[in-house]
Amino acid sequence: MLGAVVLFGPPGSGKGTQAKLLAARFGVPHVSTGDLLREHVAAGDEIGREAQALMQAGRLVPDELVERLVEERLSRPDARNGVVLDGFPRTLEQAESLSKLLKKRNLDELVIHLKVDYNKIISRLTARRQCPKCGTLYNLLSNPPKSDQVCDRDGSVLIARADDREEVIRERFRAYEALTLPLLERFRSSGRRLCEVDAGCGGPEELAGRIAALVRNAEARR
Ligand code: AMP
Repeated sequence: MLGAVVLFGPPGSGKGTQAKLLAARFGVPHVSTGDLLREHVAAGDEIGREAQALMQAGRLVPDELVERLVEERLSRPDARNGVVLDGFPRTLEQAESLSKLLKKRNLDELVIHLKVDYNKIISRLTARRQCPKCGTLYNLLSNPPKSDQVCDRDGSVLIARADDREEVIRERFRAYEALTLPLLERFRSSGRRLCEVDAGCGGPEELAGRIAALVRNAEARR
């Protein structure tokens, strides 16, 4: 049983791309709180209305709201053997809440810290594009679509995320450094299993291979 693999790192460190690749390799769902929130924003429902302005400003939405989304997602049958978590937890409070949820479900937790140089990240984020229909991620510099700005899978015109503008990116970094980065210390001091990986080099598939090897190693040592 895989348990919960938590991909941890700053905005633009490749969590979404890696989470998709790893979830496919291990046959478990990819759970991204950012994607779940964007679905609510697109639906225009109450959760979406509460989250939208905060997301557009690059600020975190309230813990209680994302915790509810994750709890609901983890309770579905396809998450029984594990998940790859992307973008959660992002605060100390969320980390505590996740540990309780996983304990209740008898799932182990393994944190993978994706380390990337900040200068690389800004150029990555401004070149990031996503298919609005199927969610496939592209990067105009490192992972471009076959034909210009159009999804390889379904031909939809790719879009940039509203929060991938430079001033919003800066605010997202501020939130990361103030609220999320302190989690690393907590992970270390509380004895959670934590692996560090250099995510600034190699292509997406090569990096996924390295992370998968770390996950298998950690499983074997359990
Ligand atoms: P992401 O797609 O993970 O970069 O998330 C996009 C935005 O959604 C973030 O900038 C936050 O506004 C919000 N968000 C996603 N996950 C969380 C979380 N765990 N806690 C609070 N806000 C979140």
